[in-house]
Parts: sequence; structure tokens; C-alpha cells
Amino acid sequence: MSEQCHTMGLVIRAKREKDVILTLLTPEMGKMTVIAKGARSLKGPQMAMSQPFCYGDFELYKKGDLYWLRTGELKENFYGVTSRLDALNLAAYFCDVAIAVSEPGEPCEELLRLLLNSLYFLANKTYPDELIKGVFEWRVLAMQGLSPAVHRCCGCGKVQDGGFALDIAQGELFCGECRAKREVLGDGLRIDDDAPRHEWVLLSQGALEAIRFAISTPLGKMMSFRLDDETGRYDLSRAGEKFVRYHLDVDSAALKMYEQMRGK
Ligand SMILES: [Zn+2]
Repeated sequence: MSEQCHTMGLVIRAKREKDVILTLLTPEMGKMTVIAKGARSLKGPQMAMSQPFCYGDFELYKKGDLYWLRTGELKENFYGVTSRLDALNLAAYFCDVAIAVSEPGEPCEELLRLLLNSLYFLANKTYPDELIKGVFEWRVLAMQGLSPAVHRCCGCGKVQDGGFALDIAQGELFCGECRAKREVLGDGLRIDDDAPRHEWVLLSQGALEAIRFAISTPLGKMMSFRLDDETGRYDLSRAGEKFVRYHLDVDSAALKMYEQMRGK
């Protein structure tokens, strides 16, 4: 006996074997594994719905514990993402992050909306890539309850400073002066009594304000700020990435490729 159902969903992974094993991100059912039967014989809507980054209405049937793709209606395929290698690697990295933080059966509407918005911006080059990446990372961290304390220096309470840095493991912000007191050694590494090594990431004032904005603004307004200097955007993105890697344990091959291409 098979039972039919349908859901809106975004393909966040498509593994081609004898069949195509799809990982979907859906608003109500969270992360789902769906099989598109017969990789070589797929055609029409089944073919269209089995591609990475395709978003639409999936018609499925459930047989035993598994969901199979019956047909579907494509709404968006983010074609612009696949025409640019930087964007393609970033989109795949965003999907790796989504896979890491979503669970089967747990609704994740906000994560899905964030991912769809970010793919749209990448596909249409609406904003610089580093800005889209940084905002995506900081918002995912905020959704997971992992926002660092970025509003003032944890040591002295200062709100503005030229030399703010974030402690990645602790999620604490320190101004240049307080950081110096904590025995900063060399390139952002600190040695103190209870923890042998802490990694710091330095932030320009612009990047810090962007992080404050990204973690506290409603999704619909997530890009309504300006960060015109390239260094600021780089700081925002680099800090987001370090936090994601450390706190969400995401090790993404796509991110490494993106960085290699950028020469970082
Ligand atoms: Zn301070």
C-alpha cells in the first residue's frame, strides 16, 4: 500500500546513483529524503524536480518508510546560481549548512525562507557574494540560539572601538584595550590561564554593526543595511564562517572550493 502526499520543498542535495537520492528542505516536515526512481529514465517533471537548488511542489508517495517522487511542479530553479562557479559553490555551502542544522520531522520554515532568499540574491547578483554569505551565516547562527554577545565589550562595556575582536569559542566581544590586557599573542591567538588557546577574529566597526543588524532584524529586511567597504564585507563573512565551522561543525567541500577560487 502506498500513501500519497505533497509538499513544497527545495532540493538541498541530489545524489545520483542507480536512482537519484534527494534531500529536500520542507517547511513542515523539515529535512526529507526522497527517491526519484531510475536516474537514467527520469524525464519531464521528475527530471526537473531532481536537480540541485530546484524549488517547487513535490508530489510524493510513501511506501514503507521511504518517500518516492511521483511528479511535481517547478516554481524556481535558481538558474543564475549554476551559471557562475563562485555562486554555485556558495549555494552548495549554504545547503551543507542547512543539512547540518535541520532535522527530519522538525518544521523549518524560517530556515527555508532564508535559504530561498539567499539563493535568489546569489542567482541575481543582487548583493556582493561575501555580504550574502555573511548574512546567511549570522542568521543561521542566530536561529540556532548561537548569537555571540556583540553589543558591547565584555570587558569594559565600550560600544565603539577601532579594534574589536570576537572570541570564537566563547562568543564574546572585546575591545582592543581589554584584549591587550588578556595577553594577545601574534595573529589573533591568545594564551591565558584556563584555556590554552583562543582564536580571535578581528572586526571592523562596519562588520560589527552588520553582525548586530543580521542577528536582530526580521527576515524580510535582512539586507536593508549598507556595508560598502570590501574589508568590512570580508570581516563579516570570515567571522561568520569561523563561527559556523566551530559551533555547527560544518565541514564543507564547496566552501573550500569557493575559498580556493577566491585565493584565500
Ligand atoms: Zn573593553
